[in-house]
Amino acid sequence: MNEREDLLADLLAHGRFLGSLGTVGVPRPAAAAEAGGVAGLPSAGTLEPVGDPVAALAAIREDLGDCRRCKLWSGRKTIVFGQGNPRAELMFVGEAPGADEDEQGLAFVGRAGQLLTDIIEKGLKMKRSEVWIGNILKCRPPQNRNPEPDEVLSCQPFLERQIDAIRPRVIVGLGKFGGQWLLKTAEPISRIRGRVGEYRGITVVPTWHPAYLLRNAAAKKDVWEDMKTVLRLLGRPVPGPRD
Ligand code: URA
Repeated sequence: MNEREDLLADLLAHGRFLGSLGTVGVPRPAAAAEAGGVAGLPSAGTLEPVGDPVAALAAIREDLGDCRRCKLWSGRKTIVFGQGNPRAELMFVGEAPGADEDEQGLAFVGRAGQLLTDIIEKGLKMKRSEVWIGNILKCRPPQNRNPEPDEVLSCQPFLERQIDAIRPRVIVGLGKFGGQWLLKTAEPISRIRGRVGEYRGITVVPTWHPAYLLRNAAAKKDVWEDMKTVLRLLGRPVPGPRD
């Protein structure tokens, strides 16, 4: 391949990747970072208003049905729709269910989920039932492998509709997949965390995935910084070092 063909192949591959992230609308600059001078990230379109979030979520669950839109249906035990407060101000978006979630039909109930509970209850001083917790994929990938582009494309309309229904003020993107999907970017999580972005007018705070924290306890201090940003964005008190 000559240099021009190389460049074209690169561009096409990048385009396919961005396509699989499901870019919606034309990116525009993020609103001025509300949370203490953190640099903004691009956003992706605006949100469609929906009525009653409880009814909207029930309709989304019904449309999902016994989903066979991608290949993951054959290995799953349960569809993990996501759970929590339909009127949540704060939403967490992870990657995909693991073994415990597949077993119980609930998002973030394994070891990573326990750590997420601590982040919510001990860090944010909120109840788990106050927030909404969900994933990009609703079915467990075999051996917890990464989501594949066709799976993300099949599943993402349901997450998009869930976000439209709940209309949280802030969404925390957990890990590479949660952060990149919300911000429609291929930038590594190490680059996007610590900055605030937007998903269709909703403020997004990308942070490390709790499963990563289980292997890298040192990264917990970054997550605490990110959670302080969340508290500021929600207008809630931010605990000081002695609280
Ligand atoms: N990891 C995720 O991304 N989601 C879950 O629900 C559990 C673990």
